[in-house]
Order: sequence, then structure tokens, then C-alpha cells
Amino acid sequence: MKTDCLFCRIVTGEIPATVVRETDTTLAFRDINPKAPVHVLVIPKEHYVDVATLAQADPKLAGEVLETAANVAEHEGLLVDGFRLMFNTGEYGGQEVPHAHAHVLGGAPLGPMLA
Ligand code: 5GP
Ligand code: ZN
Repeated sequence: MKTDCLFCRIVTGEIPATVVRETDTTLAFRDINPKAPVHVLVIPKEHYVDVATLAQADPKLAGEVLETAANVAEHEGLLVDGFRLMFNTGEYGGQEVPHAHAHVLGGAPLGPMLA
């Protein structure tokens, strides 16, 4: 837990969020500014600055984030038509919140990735 981290504060409940799924090690909640009809963020409860740091330090936990993302996609009805699973990483990757998170986006055609 990093006290000045927005997503760590969502994990503790200090900042409210619409949680859609929770496991012992991961949390999924709706993005506050959705970019698609379904836009859910999936995070490890433990603080890692980005997905590269997470995957190298704890690949099992990184896999659990993917598993929760897949379960969210299934629960939100995204498996048939497809969806986008995305980790913005660092400055050039457009990452704004420095706590590793997957974006699960779907519910409509999303177009080319960099459009
Ligand atoms: P990034 O650009 O770091 O990959 O994505 C950060 C995401 O977090 C953005 O899509 C943004 O809308 C979302 N976000 C920022 N602040 C909050 C918040 O307080 N609550 C929730 N649920 N989402 C947030
Ligand atoms: Zn954090």
C-alpha cells in the first residue's frame, strides 16, 4: 500500500469505486471516465508502478490480473464479439495513474488501436 497512490486508496476503500469483481489479490472497477460502453480497470491489490515492473517481480500475480480481466470480459458479455485488453505503460505509453492496471474495453467496435 502506497498512501499517496489513487488506486491503492481504492483498494483500501478510502476512495469509492464501482467494483465489479474482487479476488484475494486483484480488484476490478469501472473507469470513472469510460472510453467505451464497457470500460473496467483491473489492478493487483499490491502496489506496482506499471505492468512491466509487476510482470518481472511477480509473474504469478500478473497472470492473476489477466485471469480477472478475462472473467470481467466474460461477465460483461464481451467474449463473443471481442474486446480490448490494454496496459498503458510509462510516459510514452500514456500512463496517467502509476499503479499497474489493465483496461478492459468493449461493447462496441473500437477501431484500430492507435486511431
Ligand atoms: P491510464 O492513462 O493510467 O492508463 O489510465 C488511468 C485511468 O484511470 C483513466 O482511464 C481514468 O479515467 C481512470 N481514473 C482516473 N481517476 C480515477 C478514479 O478516481 N476512479 C476511477 N474509477 N477511475 C479513475
Ligand atoms: Zn498503488
